Amino acid sequence: MSLFCCVACEKKATWKYLPLCRSCHLALKPTNSICVICGSPLCKKECRFPWLQPYPIEKVHAPFLSLGRTHEILKAWKKKPGPQLERQIFNWNHDFWTQLAVENFQSIIPVPQHLNRWNQLKHHPSHEIARRTSIKLNIPIIEPLTFNQKITNAAKKNRSERLQMNTLLKWSFSKHKLELVKKILIVDDFYTSGGTLKNISRFIQQEYPIQIQALVLGRRPLYDSSTSELA
Ligand SMILES: [Zn+2]
Ligand SMILES: [Zn+2]
Repeated sequence: MSLFCCVACEKKATWKYLPLCRSCHLALKPTNSICVICGSPLCKKECRFPWLQPYPIEKVHAPFLSLGRTHEILKAWKKKPGPQLERQIFNWNHDFWTQLAVENFQSIIPVPQHLNRWNQLKHHPSHEIARRTSIKLNIPIIEPLTFNQKITNAAKKNRSERLQMNTLLKWSFSKHKLELVKKILIVDDFYTSGGTLKNISRFIQQEYPIQIQALVLGRRPLYDSSTSELA
């Protein structure tokens, strides 16, 4: 009998894999084999689906494939952050850090979080990922994007109005913060369809031509067949 509980799934766990249970321990293996173009773990050196590039983002780096139990664990951290789970989640392998370091980003931009969201979560996942990356790679964090609260609220009132409106108006942008910066790393927690990251990147590029890559904790492969190949 065991008195220990897994910090991710809260099921009983033996001491051997603590703070996780065996299944969560096995699911939470960081990898550097997720394709930076299409998100499949099967691409090897060259992307099999280059047309899936998330333009205007050049590459999307992710240490975890956000599927099944791995996705659940990452979500558990997002909902209930804690140092024990964090140590496991940010234990990325050396090759993954190298993959980021060789890109020579000049700045890191965490995706801004809506105030309502902060009230729910009481922490800021994209900031936390950005903070750790900033320390490890020795690159400053800048925050040129802020939520434009007024417009967001106005947009909620009327659906057709909202659809007509450019959703990019949600953010305001201070260009001067990007002065002399030519290559940035945008950070968010998950990449599913990539909508948010692509919108933000398009928005930034409209205002200021710049090379953009992204870093997320978990990425879901875009191509369905690559997901089923994994099963
Ligand atoms: Zn578990
Ligand atoms: Zn690929």
